[in-house]
Amino acid sequence: MRKLIACGFVAALGISGPLLAQKTLTGFTERSAVEQKQLEQKFDAQLSAARVGQAIKDLSAVPHHVGSAGGKAVAENILNKFKAYGWDAKLETYQVLFPTPKTRVLEMVSPTVYKALLKEPALKEDATSDQPDQLPTYNAWSADGDVTGELVFVNYGLPQDYEVLESLGIDVKGKIVIAKYGRSWRGIKPKVAQEHGAIGCIIYSDPKDDGYYQGEVYPKGAFKNEYGVQRGSIMDMVIYPGDPLTPNIGATENAKRLNRLEAPNLLKIPVLPISYHDAKPLLEALEGPVAPAEWRGALPFTYHVGPGKAKVHLKVDFDWKLQPAYNVIAKIAGSQYPDQWVIRGNHHDAWVNGANDPISGAAALLEEAQAIGQLVKTGWKPKRTLVYCAWDAEEPGLLGSTEWVEDHISELQQKTVVYINSDGNGRGFLGVEGSHALETLVTEISKDVTDPQTNVSVFERVKANNAVNAATAKAKKEALAKPTFKVNAMGSGSDYSSFIQHAGIPSLNISYGGEDDGGEYHSIYDSYDDYSRFKDPGFVYGVALAKTAGRAALRMANAEVLPFDFRSLHKTVSDYVKDLLNQTEQMRESTAAENELIRANGYALANDPTEKKKLPQAKAEVPYLDFSPMLNALTELEKTTEQLASAWSKAVNTNGNTAAFNKALYQAEQQLLSANGLPRRSWYKHTLYAPGFYTGYGVKTIPGVREAIEQRNWKEAQEQITVVAASLQKLSAYLQQIAQ
Ligand SMILES: [Zn+2]
Repeated sequence: MRKLIACGFVAALGISGPLLAQKTLTGFTERSAVEQKQLEQKFDAQLSAARVGQAIKDLSAVPHHVGSAGGKAVAENILNKFKAYGWDAKLETYQVLFPTPKTRVLEMVSPTVYKALLKEPALKEDATSDQPDQLPTYNAWSADGDVTGELVFVNYGLPQDYEVLESLGIDVKGKIVIAKYGRSWRGIKPKVAQEHGAIGCIIYSDPKDDGYYQGEVYPKGAFKNEYGVQRGSIMDMVIYPGDPLTPNIGATENAKRLNRLEAPNLLKIPVLPISYHDAKPLLEALEGPVAPAEWRGALPFTYHVGPGKAKVHLKVDFDWKLQPAYNVIAKIAGSQYPDQWVIRGNHHDAWVNGANDPISGAAALLEEAQAIGQLVKTGWKPKRTLVYCAWDAEEPGLLGSTEWVEDHISELQQKTVVYINSDGNGRGFLGVEGSHALETLVTEISKDVTDPQTNVSVFERVKANNAVNAATAKAKKEALAKPTFKVNAMGSGSDYSSFIQHAGIPSLNISYGGEDDGGEYHSIYDSYDDYSRFKDPGFVYGVALAKTAGRAALRMANAEVLPFDFRSLHKTVSDYVKDLLNQTEQMRESTAAENELIRANGYALANDPTEKKKLPQAKAEVPYLDFSPMLNALTELEKTTEQLASAWSKAVNTNGNTAAFNKALYQAEQQLLSANGLPRRSWYKHTLYAPGFYTGYGVKTIPGVREAIEQRNWKEAQEQITVVAASLQKLSAYLQQIAQ
């Protein structure tokens, strides 16, 4: 329905096709912009939706998780494709730890007995659903364990849910918790449960989130049927991603490895994911308080929290083996700047068949490689080197890409112009996360790529969608007036993390989606049949992704002067700092108001013996933090980004040797790294972006300061303000230097 309105709206705006495409391109001269456009038209002409579809079918034909025969076959298939397309391609292999289940038992032992199925049934409507070699349903990096205990329902299992449990006087110490999937990286749920003393954690998919409450279930519709299970990693990735035994170094054959039990990003409790078919009898047996309204799902009974008679037995143990992770690395050397690399990547490993995650994105990447190969055959050569990568072992925790980055970090920091990532892709709207200095590049590309459903630019389509969904008339007006495409900050969840958050390499993550909802994620039903019916019928968004990411790679490979504009970074960081100031101010006011209330009511509550609820405690007042170092650094940065912008415009038209200038531009992001990294997680070096300590996926911008404020750790907040100010000053001085 929404889609239709959007089309009508765009038509009303009298906009049609990218006829509106701009003549100039940032970073190109008038003449080279015309040549680049012609090259891109030839590139587009090589792209075939049918070939994308065939690649998705081939590469998701059998289960292909890391360490499996199917996984190796997919890596070799991709290697051969690159070679056939004329790329200089090879495998780079790392030895990574990858646990697979030997035992999985979950049973309710009281008040009645129920033995969980822990199996997804094959469906005649899905050709690959009955295949052998499917990984069982499990959470990789769960600890080995055999526990029995009272069951407690903890909603999504996030810190705020435990505050609610505490206010209900419920403690999970020595108990087993059951949490809903959703709202965070799944690893946060067992992490917070472990922090509160739970002995085991069960994670289930409630039909309210991605099952029958959302729409028809598979195979009739796209949503999760009662037996579907989301597999997935529960590594505490916010400490560091990658092979847990080799933080900061590549997991090469002879790398020095930690003992598994010492790895700080692995949890100590047993964890298991289940379907809502298996969760139903467990949740139904719970007694105790009725769950708060916002905790209730869509299963047909009254949700209770427990604990009580309902007791479960959870037993899991794993085969902790090193497995080979096969990264496919393909290159086309640059004709003018061979030591300047434009890297493009998508992972190829899956939990089972992974037609959507990751093969839909990998197929688009291969289609780009095929088209670029055709261009090279016509005698064209990129100015800078193109490096196309298919990563292994992303699913367990970004292992393949992280080991490669850690292994080659100094060369990558010298040579990498940009890293362009993709992963799952489907029908819908363009979404981009990344380095804010690349907003101009992304905006121009989004105005040049046509949306296959509406035939307007993907820029216009997103704009119309934002306007349609705007909450207020003001927001709608702003959405319609916005001249640029919003690049969101990067959290985690795919292979860009080590590039930007560890190495400080400018990065983009590109995908289409939003009209491809469903419940197949990490289940046996993420298959070609599901994908071709519900995710991207006709594979037209596969081609849209190839056009979008392909243009990013080709423009960064050919630009005279790289289209980095740090003014948009300055603007964005200024907004973050404003937000931090507001957040602290609000916390100060709400704490003062709360404390006043507690002081005023404290007496009343004390006189009511029936009140079992724990009395709220007054919180420490929120002190005034000194943000001036950051504010002064921003003022300086505003000046230097302007200086650089004018030096930049001069450089475009000088036709001089811009190699050094360009190298300085793409290394600027590294100035935002801090040597010590974030508190308690030094692997994360970037001072502006990191996944939240308690979100896992979701980004925390200016994380060192923001999380200290959220944790009311005022001393650390002040220290981190100094750290961030120093990195902004470093960037300022650096930009001023290259401007001169
Ligand atoms: Zn993925």
